[in-house]
Amino acid sequence: MHHILVVEDEAGIARVIDRGLRGAGYRTTVVGDGLAALEAVAETGVDLVVLDVGLPRMDGFTVLRMLRTMDDPVPVIMCTARDSVEDTVSGLESGADDYLAKPFRVEELLARVKARLRRPADDGSTKAQQVSAGGALLDLVAHTATVDGRPVELSAREFALARELMEHAGQVLNRQQLLDRVWGYEVTGASNVVDVYVRYLRTKLGAQRITTVRGIGYRFES
Ligand code: CA
Repeated sequence: MHHILVVEDEAGIARVIDRGLRGAGYRTTVVGDGLAALEAVAETGVDLVVLDVGLPRMDGFTVLRMLRTMDDPVPVIMCTARDSVEDTVSGLESGADDYLAKPFRVEELLARVKARLRRPADDGSTKAQQVSAGGALLDLVAHTATVDGRPVELSAREFALARELMEHAGQVLNRQQLLDRVWGYEVTGASNVVDVYVRYLRTKLGAQRITTVRGIGYRFES
């Protein structure tokens, strides 16, 4: 079942979209601001985002730009009440896959969602499907991990961090590089989120696989 993230701060509109999508057989998550949208995409597998432009905390265009810096960009349909040409162009330039001006009928949205999800990933055949290093293996298609042939359960974020480290096995990556590449946006405050997740990965993949290079960062042993 496809999972769709609805980002809309007006509860009434969010409810209508949510009901329409669920009625059409999609699984949905609804959030009301831009930061929550980025978190939801990072934490859960999302197949498509329906994104409002006018949002609290971080507007839709900023969210879209952030999403586009991620490794595996999720399709985005932008929705906006601001139906000026300028906004449309700006939305498409920052990488929206489609665009709907409010007010729209739910049927119209459903048609666009369906069309977008039907389209196969255009570069799936040329990308690597697996990453392996030091006895650990990530299947990038099935999103599964094994260590010495034994399956290991990783969260979406752990998987992304493992992937980044393993794709650069034998190299040291510093915290900022890992933050930029795995978290993709500014983590507020003096965050130790990288260290925390490295700890999780060590527990799951084996402590000896990730070496701390003091004062610099981490290295996955190949
Ligand atoms: Ca809004």
